[in-house]
Amino acid sequence: MVARAGIPVYDVPFVSVGGGMGSFVTVDYLRVAGGVPASDIRVLSNLSHPWQTYEYLTRVSQLPRSKRIRSDSASRPDNLWGFPSYAVQEAFQTRSLKPLGQVFLEPVLADFYTPVLGTVLDGIKREAQRIRYDEMLVRGEVQVARRRVGGGYFTLLSPAADERKVVPSDQVAFRSRDVHLAVGYPGLRFLPDMQAFRARMNDFHHVVNGYEDHEHVYEALRRRPGTVLVRGGGVVASAVLHRLITDRIESGAQTRILHLFRTYFSGSHGPHPWARRPGRDGWAYQGFNYPKSAWGGQLRARMLRLEGHDRVRLYNEIGGTTTPSRRHWRAALRTARDSGWYQALVGTIADLRLSESGGMVARVGGNDGVFEFPVDYVIDCTGLDGDVAEHRVLGDLLRHGGAGRNPLGRLDVDRTFEVRGTASGVGRLYATGAAAYGGYFPGVDTFLGLQLATQDVVGDIARRGYCDHMGPVRSVIRWWKWVTGKQI
Ligand SMILES: Cc1cc2nc3c(=O)[nH]c(=O)nc-3n(C[C@H](O)[C@H](O)[C@H](O)COP(=O)(O)OP(=O)(O)OC[C@H]3O[C@@H](n4cnc5c(N)ncnc54)[C@H](O)[C@@H]3O)c2cc1C
Repeated sequence: MVARAGIPVYDVPFVSVGGGMGSFVTVDYLRVAGGVPASDIRVLSNLSHPWQTYEYLTRVSQLPRSKRIRSDSASRPDNLWGFPSYAVQEAFQTRSLKPLGQVFLEPVLADFYTPVLGTVLDGIKREAQRIRYDEMLVRGEVQVARRRVGGGYFTLLSPAADERKVVPSDQVAFRSRDVHLAVGYPGLRFLPDMQAFRARMNDFHHVVNGYEDHEHVYEALRRRPGTVLVRGGGVVASAVLHRLITDRIESGAQTRILHLFRTYFSGSHGPHPWARRPGRDGWAYQGFNYPKSAWGGQLRARMLRLEGHDRVRLYNEIGGTTTPSRRHWRAALRTARDSGWYQALVGTIADLRLSESGGMVARVGGNDGVFEFPVDYVIDCTGLDGDVAEHRVLGDLLRHGGAGRNPLGRLDVDRTFEVRGTASGVGRLYATGAAAYGGYFPGVDTFLGLQLATQDVVGDIARRGYCDHMGPVRSVIRWWKWVTGKQI
């Protein structure tokens, strides 16, 4: 069919679809640990650099390059060994023992140490140059990844306009032994009330999502007093609130903040006495998305043994919306609360409508009844989500490629992140990141999770005999090359 359609075919053993953080981590492992040459790998992506989507999402959700990210030095996406850690690097760069002191005292006497976003991105940029990432990148939109009759896969790409100079065709096919998918989030999740209001009023200006560019809201609120309703209790909600409060304290904005929690936590909570997390003022506090043992301790080991409902039950037990307790934003929130211009509400938005005066009214329903609040803006911080079937490549795999869903509805992957039911002769199709969430490894959509998942993927490829297995001697030599920045 490919030949009949006149589509040019390129042969390459390994194709990674996505080109974001997941693809970067995977090809970094393959290049560094697996010893695979750049010519044997192609990354098919609509991005021009791997941190592009991540940087966009962090920037709009109020985490600029100068701020600290949520995760710690347990993973460095630019460094397989995680050594030296970000804290050691920062101590050297700033000639200060403060970051090391913080690591020593965390989490009891100090907040968890986490690196500044700019440091993380600069490290990835350096590593991308070192492993010749650009030589592997082919820009465009991937249409489908399908099994080939003779084994392996065809991945069909519509090249981007600038790529057409090199690939003069509107469709090209990559014929590969293996395919790796890391296509990120299927989309923004708009709760039905917001969706309805935005569609009815054609208003994408006053009702926004924390994961889309909404700088205009802060600008307008700095110019004119107004009321903003922030919904959510996660890390993005805390960052958005911190920004609103800082704008009021430092730039003289006269913003009134209504903050809507669906579930309000006034103290520590959890399913068992030995599995509790602190909570206060509505928030549930946790350093990372999951307890740390979900990445490499007892929770990971337990999850590896669970199927179906039992797995879902454990996901529910350890999951939930949380935010890290950081002294600086808790202090800002305390100031706002004490000054009377921050008010916490509990419930859900029953309705959003325009008032007679042309403003907006939010009807909030809670245990005490339904109340109306005039608001100027709504910032919804409830998340990125979406059905995997909405993504064209994943949807096609579910319909035609033999893939199935896991108990949480995402792609069903086995313990080596191979998508079950998609093997093709000697070829394997792997998925990491959000698409594989709900499998045996809950942390799969984080930097550390992507790195751990990739170890399993590359380990599987090595077992199948298609790349090196990195032993201790090679590891030391390759680490030294990393330290000295030697291009490979
Ligand atoms: C605000 C925010 C903060 C976060 N903070 C942290 C943190 O502190 N620590 C941590 O560990 N994790 C954090 N994460 C999670 C982390 O960003 C993700 O785990 C990681 O980016 C997932 O990588 P990915 O490759 O799966 O997705 P992405 O990095 O999004 O890359 C996937 C890309 O694939 C491309 N693509 C999709 N479909 C196609 C197609 N058909 N053709 C071509 N290209 C396609 C898209 O451009 C997409 O962006 C954060 C996430 C967010 C949103």
